[in-house]
Amino acid sequence: MNTLELIVPCFNEEDSLPQFYKTVAETVNSLEDISTSFIFVDDGSGDKTIQVIKQLAQSDNRVKYISFSRNFGKEAAMLAGMRMSRADFVGIIDADLQHSPSLIPDMVNAVSREGYDIAAARRTDRTGEAKLKSAFSRGFYKIINKISDANIEDGAQDFRIMKRKVVNAVISMPEYNRFSKGIFSWVGYKTKWFEHENQERFAGSSKWSFWKLFTYAVDGIIGFSTAPLKISFFVGAVTSFAGFIYALYTIVKTLCFGSDVKGYPSIICAVFIIGGLILISLGITGEYIARTYMEVKNRPNYLIDETNILPEEDKK
Ligand code: UDP
Ligand code: MG
Repeated sequence: MNTLELIVPCFNEEDSLPQFYKTVAETVNSLEDISTSFIFVDDGSGDKTIQVIKQLAQSDNRVKYISFSRNFGKEAAMLAGMRMSRADFVGIIDADLQHSPSLIPDMVNAVSREGYDIAAARRTDRTGEAKLKSAFSRGFYKIINKISDANIEDGAQDFRIMKRKVVNAVISMPEYNRFSKGIFSWVGYKTKWFEHENQERFAGSSKWSFWKLFTYAVDGIIGFSTAPLKISFFVGAVTSFAGFIYALYTIVKTLCFGSDVKGYPSIICAVFIIGGLILISLGITGEYIARTYMEVKNRPNYLIDETNILPEEDKK
């Protein structure tokens, strides 16, 4: 009999969890030849999320949990779940029921019978999302796919079920700045995509502000491409070449026609434009250096406060 573990990152999900557990448990109980367990990852919630999870664990011994010492973000929560997982198939699903559990049986089928390594959900529509947010997301996917070697599906979600070997590949990537969408696509393997409509959140609110999404996009681009460095080099080269030509022109003009003091505004413009370009380039370089710095420090991605998952050795 094959085993499936569902990793559920939870951040302030006390209101969604009971309903989530009920719906998903019903779905997975009906699966044949697969025994399912849950790994709830409490990502430093400020509400009663961990108590709710512990109650579930008391009534159902398939419920495992990990609780972090503080909020480390969804990426860290998914990583912790994947590292602690031992099952043949590992799934990741949001706690807010936006990832419809009704897809799970087909997804399991894809990896267990149809020979796929990954079954992943892709969002078909962006209805219910702010127009500006949609436009930015679309732009982001276009840019990142052009300039990096990871090919990220527009609308790809973290909702997926993977074979053990895929999970092992994903957790073998040691980076601190984790951008899962990039990592999942970077590792490759045969993926079956499931079209998925946007569901309303069951309870609570989304934890993604515009600023958080923006920094997430920057993380993705910086993490999977060095093109911005090349662009800033290119822009710098073009600007200084133009400046050089202009200097030659000015020298020739002064020699032939003498000099006048006109042109003060154009100098100020040039100073501002070039100064701005320099600062942008420095900023881009800085982003890479900052990330290198974080990687070199080699800090853990998360700290575990408590868990009911036994370390591998104790199990035997
Ligand atoms: N989440 C988390 N840590 C965070 C933020 C979110 O574990 O710092 C979890 C959250 O509980 C949910 C999932 O990640 O299960 C997706 O979060 P959310 O619904 O806020 O994102 P959205 O669906 O709006 O993209
Ligand atoms: Mg959500």
